[in-house]
Amino acid sequence: MTDHHRCRVLIIGAGPAGYTAAIYAARAGLQPWLVAGLQPGGQLTITTEVENFPGFATAVQGPWLMEQMALQAGHVGTHIVNDLIVKADFSARPFRCQGDSGDAYMADCVIIATGAEARWLGLPSERRLQGFGVSACATCDGFFFRGKRVAVVGGGNTAVEEALYLTHHAESVTLIHRRDRLRAEAILQQRLFAHPKVRVVWNSVVEEIAAAGTPASVSGVRVRDVRTGEPSFLAVDGVFVAIGHTPNTAPFRAQVALDDEGYVLTTPGTTRTSVAGVFAAGDVQDKVWRQAVTAAGTGCMAALEAEKWLAAQASESARAAD
Ligand code: FAD
Ligand code: NAP
Repeated sequence: MTDHHRCRVLIIGAGPAGYTAAIYAARAGLQPWLVAGLQPGGQLTITTEVENFPGFATAVQGPWLMEQMALQAGHVGTHIVNDLIVKADFSARPFRCQGDSGDAYMADCVIIATGAEARWLGLPSERRLQGFGVSACATCDGFFFRGKRVAVVGGGNTAVEEALYLTHHAESVTLIHRRDRLRAEAILQQRLFAHPKVRVVWNSVVEEIAAAGTPASVSGVRVRDVRTGEPSFLAVDGVFVAIGHTPNTAPFRAQVALDDEGYVLTTPGTTRTSVAGVFAAGDVQDKVWRQAVTAAGTGCMAALEAEKWLAAQASESARAAD
């Protein structure tokens, strides 16, 4: 049976941005609803140690941190729902969002906090071999490569962290990067270069992932040096793709203004979108900082802005009624 739910503030997404928005909105007495999507807890649920979220003297586990945020959001009065928003209509108020469950969520104000998800190289072999040696999550799949050789593709923080994590399991880790320098933070680079199991293949792109056996599993990668055009083959048992993320904005296309890459556009210094009463927080609107703490920070901003916006609407309605 499908239901129609009515709330003042609907928060879409259960990452640091969504939970923080929920904590602030709930504490402001707005009784928010939060729709969690397919990954309650967001991206930090697929990592292990988080050592840069303030408040902890030593590293904490990503899934644990997100569980704490969920508990805190619930404790202060957030109504958390397991559903996936598949469609939104922001053309009239109350705003309407459609869940995959068939339920509809009507809200005076919406906070989009749907984050981003892993990007793939786009090779047919990569797609075919997902689950057979190709992965985008070392913490999820690294265990399966105990004592084996793996490659990681990418040069950002994720790629370097994935590579370092994989050294706990794999016999050797080869980082393949398309340029001659990494984008990852200096401290991560230092750890990577100092690790005896790691080597870096610079200025190279993966052109194909090779497979062998029945059922087929990864046997290596065909790589091309972008400066010389020279091809080479690297024998590995697993490939971890860590080349960045795509914002989760499909349900909001044509509803709010997005940039060329699909990120929600917000007015600088605010979380306001192109639609009054719809706010966006976290990685879904941020391709520069993309940190748990910045996502949480903008989640806080979105809730405070939503509260002010609702108050302004209420006084406008009261004035109109006089
Ligand atoms: P996300 O965490 O991406 O959460 C998005 C949420 O939206 C999810 O709950 C999802 O289910 C939900 N959602 C998506 N679509 C829908 C929909 N249609 N309907 C309903 N819900 C939906 N940052 C750090 O600061 N420190 C770190 O150590 C760190 N490590 C990282 C390690 C890895 C492997 C990765 C991938 C990222 C890491 N980051 C780290 C970055 C950090 O995880 C992100 O910046 C942060 O999680 C962004 O938070 P968010 O709330 O914007 O979105
Ligand atoms: P990112 O910073 O965007 O880096 C993506 C990397 O993949 C870049 O090195 C890029 O190369 C490469 N790349 C992109 N497309 C490619 C392609 N088609 N083929 C080959 N290589 C490709 O993404 P990220 O590493 O996932 O990080 C995302 C955000 O999360 C960042 O803001 C990061 O700081 C944050 N994060 C933080 C932590 C932490 O604080 N510990 C950990 C993980 C992630 P170029 O360099 O040539 O562009």
